[in-house]
Amino acid sequence: MVRRLAEAPARGQTRRRERDLRPSADLCPAPIAFERGEGAWLVARGGERYLDFGAGIAVNALGHAHPHLVAALTEQAGKLWHTSNLFEIPEGERLGRRLVDATFADVAFFANSGAEANEAAIKMARKYHAAGGQPERYRIVTFEGAFHGRTLATIAAGGQAKYIEGFGPKVEGFDQVPTGDFAALEAAITPETAALMIEPIQGEGGLRVIPHAALRRLREICDARGLLLIMDEVQTGVGRTGKLFAHEWSGIAPDIMSAAKGIGGGFPLGVCLATREAARGMTAGTHGTTFGGNPLAMAVGNAVLDVVLADGFLEHVRRTGLLLKQKLAGLKDRYPQVIQEIRGEGLMLGLRLGVPNTDFTAAARAEHLLVIPAGDNVVRLLPPLIVGEADVAAAIERLEATAAALDPMKDTPLRGAAE
Ligand SMILES: *Cc1c(COP(=O)(O)O)cnc(C)c1O
Repeated sequence: MVRRLAEAPARGQTRRRERDLRPSADLCPAPIAFERGEGAWLVARGGERYLDFGAGIAVNALGHAHPHLVAALTEQAGKLWHTSNLFEIPEGERLGRRLVDATFADVAFFANSGAEANEAAIKMARKYHAAGGQPERYRIVTFEGAFHGRTLATIAAGGQAKYIEGFGPKVEGFDQVPTGDFAALEAAITPETAALMIEPIQGEGGLRVIPHAALRRLREICDARGLLLIMDEVQTGVGRTGKLFAHEWSGIAPDIMSAAKGIGGGFPLGVCLATREAARGMTAGTHGTTFGGNPLAMAVGNAVLDVVLADGFLEHVRRTGLLLKQKLAGLKDRYPQVIQEIRGEGLMLGLRLGVPNTDFTAAARAEHLLVIPAGDNVVRLLPPLIVGEADVAAAIERLEATAAALDPMKDTPLRGAAE
């Protein structure tokens, strides 16, 4: 009944008006609803199958209806859903310990989303200096093109006018500099600066990879200036780039890191991880959440880690990512007017396009392939990490048809002759 209402014609006009207000790279709801999923495939209500290379924006890390996750969730659902953090939650202690063991971190704070994990990270960085007797150090330097979420503090951190405007006074204390401009960065750091905050690969911003050397330089600057380094790995984390966390490629470690999206495999879960030192201000009672770390989320989070931390899994992501990237390079050679650049690492890949990315997304959907637009006229390929060679081949076939349909050269005789 609800669904039928949503389809009523009158709704179309509301949709259109909403759409006009939306920035072009943002997601407009496509006129399609899915009923179930199997691995890398989604099945629409009419029974049509779509190859899901968006994974709910890097969320369904293990694909749809992964048997191990389904079992973990249903087993926990039959036992206990919620007790609040007034009591111990053994599954949460276990997940926290496993994340700490697998990373630079000493402590973990669970939340329900990426933005909330980032809020915890921002609060922690400010409190660190307050606890050290320097409460005036609360400012955080962020980078152009960043996306850190949609809460009031995280839109200020992201610095994008399209997300900030109309929501009243901007949360104070964020200074943004162009990515890679170290002179601007040095100039932005003042005695009031608490931390730098960065995505190792900008997701929403257009799959812009921060060079490993630049990340190492940020680490050096933080060490020299007594700043905390915050990595937002909400999109890049949990195996997406072929390492458990993307910063590992650069050989450095942050002081504070947020993760979400893939970590719950589709169940809402976020986490803020930190060194004991960085978390020194977050004493009992300073931060809290009702739902964060509840038994359902913890059971699923542990199940996701069972798979991602298993021998050979990250190697599989790296191998499959490389294969996909190689095939995309071939596609780029065949359709240089459509695909201009390939970006990214592991199974977090982006195509910078010569045609509008929203057109490309729609054309790919017509080929029953789901991809996701991002800033900088990029489409993102974020398949479930479990995809195999057959899925990659199927995606390339569909991308080829998409590129051919959009190729501005498609009707010229030369092109025809070459084919
Ligand atoms: C998606 C995303 C967020 C926000 O996560 P939500 O769960 O939507 O709050 C923050 N940072 C990055 C890098 C993201 O990709």
